Amino acid sequence: MSRAVYIIAIVLSVVAAFAIAQVPLSISSGLDPACTLSGKAAFPEGGVTAPGGQHNCAQQIDPNARNSQVLARFDLPQSAAEPAKFLRTRIGLFDELTLTVVDEDGTPHSRIYHMDDVTLISGEPLFMAELPKITGNSRTVFLQIEALRHNATINRVELYSMDPSRTTGHTHALLFLTLLIGLMCGPILFDIAAWSVLRTPLLAWHAGVSASFVAMVALRSGLVVEFVPLSLEGWRILLIMALGITVLNGAMFTRSYIEEECLSWVARRLLPLAGIWAMVASVIHAMAFDILAPLGGAFHSWAMLPVLLTFAVVLIDAYRRGSRAVRFQMIGWIPLMAAFALQLFSYILPFGVQTDGLPLFYLGIMAETTVTALGVADRFFTLRRERDRAVTEARALEHLSERDPLTGLHNRRAIDNRFHDLHRAGYETFALIDLDHFKSINDTAGHVVGDQVLQVVANILREDEHSLAMRLGGEEFLLLMRGTDTELRAEHLRRAIPLRVAREVTELDMLVTASMGVVTIPRKAMPNAQLADIYSRADILLYEAKRNGRNRMLSEKLRAFSPRKEERRGKRPAAA
Ligand code: GH3
Ligand code: MG
Ligand code: MG
Repeated sequence: MSRAVYIIAIVLSVVAAFAIAQVPLSISSGLDPACTLSGKAAFPEGGVTAPGGQHNCAQQIDPNARNSQVLARFDLPQSAAEPAKFLRTRIGLFDELTLTVVDEDGTPHSRIYHMDDVTLISGEPLFMAELPKITGNSRTVFLQIEALRHNATINRVELYSMDPSRTTGHTHALLFLTLLIGLMCGPILFDIAAWSVLRTPLLAWHAGVSASFVAMVALRSGLVVEFVPLSLEGWRILLIMALGITVLNGAMFTRSYIEEECLSWVARRLLPLAGIWAMVASVIHAMAFDILAPLGGAFHSWAMLPVLLTFAVVLIDAYRRGSRAVRFQMIGWIPLMAAFALQLFSYILPFGVQTDGLPLFYLGIMAETTVTALGVADRFFTLRRERDRAVTEARALEHLSERDPLTGLHNRRAIDNRFHDLHRAGYETFALIDLDHFKSINDTAGHVVGDQVLQVVANILREDEHSLAMRLGGEEFLLLMRGTDTELRAEHLRRAIPLRVAREVTELDMLVTASMGVVTIPRKAMPNAQLADIYSRADILLYEAKRNGRNRMLSEKLRAFSPRKEERRGKRPAAA
């Protein structure tokens, strides 16, 4: 089973790696801007379209600019077979986006977009906006964005002649994403199947992590738009919340996944706190409070930094404590954490280039999915082995607790627990044996000799291989017998007692005899026989034997058994 899981995981990763290598992650072939600029100073006096308004293309975009004003200029080629119709760029937040088409004679045609007006494209985290009136006389397109939060939006800006959501590259991207999501659903199915074998929180949290990764991929890629119409703002909120939920699931998963002995007391408490903090920070970020606006995405990144550090410290600590599980997690999570860190630092560090790190994110998800699934399977099999061992040990203990320590025979508990099964299995004869005048053996020869007598009697009773011998307490024994001639066999054992005790307990110079009451109750006569009823019948016979002078056996065999009826009549049941 475990080997099969490994093979499946390896095959899946090879298939997915091929898919990643084959499919272009970014759809290009659009018209790139001739020039992109940011900051007020870059803008010509009187606006981009003012007669004579010039701008300085040498002044490139500031990679650290936040909430900046951005300008891009596209020079439309005269020879294009199809004129550009759409602008397409990476999803990001902004206040206002203006598209201006300037004709040969300088006439501007402008159209203003807000976040709710643009259209999200599935397959990649992109949105598009239609250009205003384009004619044969159109020469230049200006894009002007107010308060852009993330520069990756301007780094990927392009003009298209056809709807970008209908290009071949777009179809490839969808195909790749479908494969990736299919791959990620595998571990969830494994978790569900394994859950029926072993209900460990590990499986539940792993399914949670995998499901939240599916949501992250569907959102980050924009694939979700294929199924649910989302506004840019709605998409943003969902993505931020998905990240929070993923981190929470990841923290709880790590806590249940790493071996208990390799997780420090501090780590056990830090992980859920980190997860909850990630959720809180995500909610705050999603609500986009005005007071945090100047920070842009940096607030969320700063807030996630301690979470990332917590994960790193916990994993390294577990590794140093010799955790086997954490090795899988380290290999599986490092690319994803690197993708996450890269994005995080792009906001925080002054020299970081703002990128969406999407290919690294996909690669990270792939690595996480396959390697962690292997790790979970490995851990699952270990846990199951441990559980099986615990069950065996518990059974052995139960066995011990059902034994009488002096004689090694079963004790009363043993028969109490399984009387019905035994009766159904053919143990129909109950022989209750009590040593005669045992007290006087103790009194004259001492307790130790009394114990030896009990051990010898136990050994005798054990000798009938179709019987189960039990010590009910003191010097009282019970034989549960199956097979033929049970009464005879019981009587044979009873008669062996005086001889064997005399031979084996040499310190004793008195004869040890036993009295016995034997009841046989066929299953057919009484399928639901109760131990208490049978015991009391055997006890009555034993008492009779004692009263009749001890050292004897009295027996009865029931054909029908109805205690209440007989009690009413005040009769004893008929002996066979
Ligand atoms: P009877 O013939 O009527 O059965 O008389 P008895 O003396 O055998 O019966 P009684 O119940 O009066 O005494 C049983 C004695 O068994 C009393 C107790 O001290 C002794 N006994 C109980 N358990 C043990 C044990 O584990 N070891 C020893 N050596 N004696 C025990
Ligand atoms: Mg006795
Ligand atoms: Mg007794």
